[in-house]
Amino acid sequence: MEDWAEIRRLHRAEQMPIKAIARYLGISKNTVKRALAATLRVCNDAAMWVSALAHEQRVFRNYDLRKHVYRQIKDGYGLAAQAAQHVIKKVADAYTTLKSNIRAGNLGAEGSRRRTRAEDKPIVFRPQAAQPFDGRCLSWQMDAQTVSIWTVTGRMQNVAFTASADQLTTLAAYRKGESDLVHRDGMWFLIATCDLPDVPVRTPDGFVGVDLGIANIATTSDGVRRSGKGLNAVRHRHRELRRRLQVKKTKSARRLLKRRRRKEARFAANINHTIAKCIVTEAARTGQGIALEDLSGIRGRVRLRKPQRVTLHSWSFHQLGGFIAYKAARAGIALVQVDPAYTSQQCSLCGHVDKKNRPDQETFACTLCGFAEHADVNAARNIASRGVAGWAVSHAADDAA
Ligand SMILES: [Zn+2]
Repeated sequence: MEDWAEIRRLHRAEQMPIKAIARYLGISKNTVKRALAATLRVCNDAAMWVSALAHEQRVFRNYDLRKHVYRQIKDGYGLAAQAAQHVIKKVADAYTTLKSNIRAGNLGAEGSRRRTRAEDKPIVFRPQAAQPFDGRCLSWQMDAQTVSIWTVTGRMQNVAFTASADQLTTLAAYRKGESDLVHRDGMWFLIATCDLPDVPVRTPDGFVGVDLGIANIATTSDGVRRSGKGLNAVRHRHRELRRRLQVKKTKSARRLLKRRRRKEARFAANINHTIAKCIVTEAARTGQGIALEDLSGIRGRVRLRKPQRVTLHSWSFHQLGGFIAYKAARAGIALVQVDPAYTSQQCSLCGHVDKKNRPDQETFACTLCGFAEHADVNAARNIASRGVAGWAVSHAADDAA
């Protein structure tokens, strides 16, 4: 394990293709592990060198960079032709991402410390940063469930990989283009890009509404609540550990912190996947569409007392929303994003909106008609009816035609 502290968050975000499947390389042979680790190290050494040169000479475009450095890194670092090209492209892409982040104001205003720091130094690549492999550097033997992969110490044959039955089918049918070799927490992954065909969306028979929250991660309008208790407990435990580790500013503490954070993220992603799958399967079974809150304003909308605020990870909501949208699209299920305003204060039976309809966090009781329900279920029912209305509006033109 190398220096985790130097992970480029920008770079990592750019390496997450949307239509992708992670496969785990089950490598037992130490020779293969060593060869893969050496390959990433050499590729990233080369990337660091290219990055420094790009920064110094202000050459950032893939094509221009290639003219400057291709020969040197191919010969100087012993890279295969494709690997050398991928290294150059990786560097060019990282600068493009950095530039668009600067333009979008993500690193602060011009002259701010953070932005200046990002602009003044070349982009850094960790020794074990992911590296793309194309068809000439990596080939898949689907029947044998093995890959053959180029490394700096020669081509490695018959490297076994594992994947779920579902993933294997998808991989065999739709894998396209490059795959990323990723080394994370001692495990090796290939992230393959799969180009999935669009499934036509079926006309829904009603909508199931999904309310996202903290105490309950997801509540559906048919009354199923998925508790966030387990997840929040893990987050709490990790936060305590983080606090203790942050006091020590040693390298090993930092490494442990990073590892912890990723473990927590994996745990949350697993939960989100499971929830998304349940919701989409249920919608498919009943022929319904799915209505979700429009998440773009979630940070501003969710107001919490301080202890809870720390557990709120807006990225987790976005991730769950993304998983649901992705799985729904794969299954041809209609998805409508609705305006989330007042979904928690509105009565899902009579439509009356009143702050007093919510005597406490968990309870909804309409002050006008007396309808009572769990607050999250009531909100999900509002989201469901807004989904029906939203679908009707967006498909009025189709019906008229
Ligand atoms: Zn009411």
